[in-house]
Amino acid sequence: MDKIFEDKVALVTGGAFGIGKATAIAFAQRGAKVVVADWIEDLETVDTIKKAGGTALFVKCDVSDTGDVASMVHKTIEQFGSLDYAVNNAGIEGETAPAHECSETNWDKVLGINLKGVWLCMKHEIPIMLNQGKGSIVNVASIAGLVGFPGLPAYVASKHAVIGLTKTAALENAKLNIRINAVCPGVIKTPMVDRVTGKDKTVEKAYEDMEPVGRMGQPEEVAEAIIWLCSDASSFVTGESMAVDGGWIAR
Ligand code: NAD
Repeated sequence: MDKIFEDKVALVTGGAFGIGKATAIAFAQRGAKVVVADWIEDLETVDTIKKAGGTALFVKCDVSDTGDVASMVHKTIEQFGSLDYAVNNAGIEGETAPAHECSETNWDKVLGINLKGVWLCMKHEIPIMLNQGKGSIVNVASIAGLVGFPGLPAYVASKHAVIGLTKTAALENAKLNIRINAVCPGVIKTPMVDRVTGKDKTVEKAYEDMEPVGRMGQPEEVAEAIIWLCSDASSFVTGESMAVDGGWIAR
């Protein structure tokens, strides 16, 4: 694989599992030094990267905690000296209930991680990139940021807001050589979706049937879109919310 990110530094939140793990590995395969941040101390992503000859650092961080996020970015610079790419991916699905039954606790938790977490990360990442005079950020939203999903009011609200936040930050930095985009995954086979389906074959089949392509996506297929959005290949793309969804939104 071409080492297009040789000497570059990438930070991926929620990098222990799922889409974040696949993204961290995809960066490392292209030569980047990778910071894997997660609130669960699972070193499998970092070990996989190191075993393949790459460079990676695990940082424990809850993205909804200001101090944790500041420390995560500080450790990135301390260890690797720059921050070229940031993927603000950490997120949770929260509980399932209609809007009028959604608990305040669930609302605060989902918005705290999925929305405030992305904002906090950008709040600390963008000043570093401004200082460097360059950078590229990808926020992981969802097709639930583009259309409604009954039963997931907090999740849907958080992902719609991430898209608005992405557009705004992109415009604020458009002339400053920092591009900021979002990806909107469809149904991707990750631990999150396994929790939702309970790995029940009938439920999984129902989700597969909802996808126009007739299957769930793989985390690596989202990672490829994130890599493209970070790379110079997408140099004229900013403020975009790219669906990686097997055609879901096209219906
Ligand atoms: P996942 O649950 O498999 O992985 C999420 C990762 O984020 C885990 O490693 C988890 O420990 C970490 N995380 C959660 N809360 C955190 C916090 N507060 N601080 C730090 N780390 C935290 O989920 P996934 O499917 O890989 O989802 C990744 C992102 O993609 C999420 O933002 C999710 O909303 C979004 N997404 C997923 C799907 C899908 O179908 N899987 C679809 C659309 C969007």
